[in-house]
Formats: sequence, C-alpha cells, structure tokens
Amino acid sequence: MRLIEEAEGALEDARSAHQPVVRDLSVCTPTFDRQTLTREMPAAIVNGEMFLQYQPKVHVREQQISSAEALVRWQHPKRGLILPGDFITVAEQAQQIAALTLWTLDEVIRDQKILATDGHDLTIFINISGQLLSDKDFVEATCAKIHNCGAKIGFEITETAVIRDPECAIANLQIFADRGIVIASDDYGAGLSSLAYLKQLPARELKIDKMFVLQLTSSNRDPLIVRSTIDLAHALDMEVTAEGVETQAAMALLSVMGCDMVQGYLISRPISIDAFRRFLHEYRARPAEDARQSMFKRPATFWKSA
Ligand code: C2E
Ligand code: CA
Ligand code: CA
Repeated sequence: MRLIEEAEGALEDARSAHQPVVRDLSVCTPTFDRQTLTREMPAAIVNGEMFLQYQPKVHVREQQISSAEALVRWQHPKRGLILPGDFITVAEQAQQIAALTLWTLDEVIRDQKILATDGHDLTIFINISGQLLSDKDFVEATCAKIHNCGAKIGFEITETAVIRDPECAIANLQIFADRGIVIASDDYGAGLSSLAYLKQLPARELKIDKMFVLQLTSSNRDPLIVRSTIDLAHALDMEVTAEGVETQAAMALLSVMGCDMVQGYLISRPISIDAFRRFLHEYRARPAEDARQSMFKRPATFWKSA
C-alpha cells in the first residue's frame, strides 16, 4: 500500500515540478494512508477533530500585533496530531477542501468575536487553496458567510495557485477584495513567480517565503533577494510580511530593510485561541520600556520549546 502511495505521490510531484523525482523508501518518515485520510476527513470536520492555531504578525514600526494567521490541524483519535502538510493535498484531491475551508472560516469568525470582546480588533488571515479560487460555489458561500458579520478577514493565496487558472482566479479575488477581504500573496519567491500576475493581483500584502528568511543572516544572496522584494512590493503599493523570523538578528536586518511586518517563532509559534488571548494580553501589558526598545528579549529557542 505504501509503495503505491509513494509512487502516486512521486508522480504528482514530478508532474508539478516538470522533472524526475526520486523517493527513498528506506528513509522512514511518518506516512499517512491517503485513502484512509480521505475516507475519514468529512466526519473529522463535523466531529470536531480539526482545530485551529493562530500565529501573530507584528507590525515592525508600530510595534503592534497587526493581524494573525489561522493554521488548521487535525487531532486524529488514533494517529495523533496531523499537520496540514500531510492532509491539505489529500483534502484538495478528494474535493473536501471547500468544506474544510468553510469550516475554518466559521471558526475564525467565531474566534474573532471572542478576541473583540477582549478588545482586540485584528484581521485574521485564512490560507486559501488555489483550486477554490475558481470554485463558484465556494466564492458564493464565502461571500454569504462574511456578509454583514463584520469580521475582518484576510486570504493568503500562493502564487502557483493563481497562475494555474489566472483569469477566473483574479476575477474572484477581486470579488473578495470588493467585499473587504484583505488579499495577501503567500510564499512569494517559492513558486512560479510571475511579475505579470503579481501586478494584476488585488493584493495588499506580500509574504516573503520563509526559505529566504531562515538563512537571512548566514547567506550572501538571501538578503539581496529579500531587500529587492521589499522594494518591489512597496513600488506596487503593497505591505511586506517576512515569515519564518526565528532570530533577533533576522528581525533587526528586516527592520533596517524596511520590512513592514514579521511573523515567526521569535514572536510566537502557532498557538491555540486561548494561548493567543493570553499572548495578546501579555503583549499589551508589556512595560513601555520593552515596547520602545527591543520587543523580543526572549531567546530564539524560547517559543520553540513552548
Ligand atoms: P504557510 O501558509 O506558509 O504557513 C507557514 C508555516 O510555517 C506553518 O506550518 C507554520 O507553523 C510554519 N512557521 C511559522 N513560523 C515559522 C518559523 O519561524 N520557522 C519555521 N521553520 N516555520 C515556521 P504549518 O502550520 O505546518 O502549515 C503548513 C502549510 O499548510 C501552510 O504554509 C499552508 O500553506 C497550509 N495550510 C495551513 N492551514 C491551512 C488551511 O486552513 N487551508 C489551506 N488550504 N492550507 C493550509
Ligand atoms: Ca500562509
Ligand atoms: Ca507562507
């Protein structure tokens, strides 16, 4: 069974990468039987096995939490915690991604009301799979859910997704933007970057992929790429978020480069809504001295072990 699944997975990867892919089956990685996950997913969504974690984004100049990203997890009764990297493609292939994303939207709208009662007025971003951008039913259902609910929602979209069916995707993104949803271009630089489409996207935010940020202070090229991406985004009137910020050194360099927002383990790992409420409370109550100077005095390892 595993052999067939790995072969199918390699075929998919090779098709999207347009090059041969080799998988070493002697390397023991936790694998999840796709067929079983596909079968179990609809009930898992309904039965409360899915849950969200939130990861804040900090506005560098204002030193404020500007928004947060919702990341989905699956607490499987037998297999334990499954991260999205192991089930989002399954959901996409099994045509269950719309149901999962609409569930996510409901949860985010509910959690945002809880945060509002604590006095926090934050935009919450949801990751949207590319195939949903050309799904008419999904677009209608989403617009119906956000209509009149007052929620401040953002969508993070990966470029590869948009490029697959650009005209339809861009038209629907414009519908979302017209309804007040903030559009962010996710994983910038990691996919098939096309400046032509970036120009057409109704995106207000560009997220630089963590592959360029993790090595920012140890690589020669990454700082150049990040710096020029920040300038490009600003020229297109977009704000820039750097994801994968793990160290004070990266944070300092990004600040000098004019990066608008940062996200990563230095600030917080993705955490439950209750932990996020505590985080926001502590952040707001931090001494003025901390707010003026370095806001992240914790060592980079602090949040990793939290
Ligand atoms: P992403 O949108 O690029 O999310 C960022 C990923 O990087 C998250 O992994 C997060 O936990 C991780 N991360 C955050 N800060 C750091 C850091 O400082 N260092 C490092 N090394 N990693 C960091 P996660 O939660 O496993 O999510 C993986 C991907 O799954 C996401 O990538 C996103 O594309 C997808 N995903 C998550 N939730 C959803 C969802 O509700 N719908 C869809 N369609 N995709 C989702
Ligand atoms: Ca994202
Ligand atoms: Ca990303």
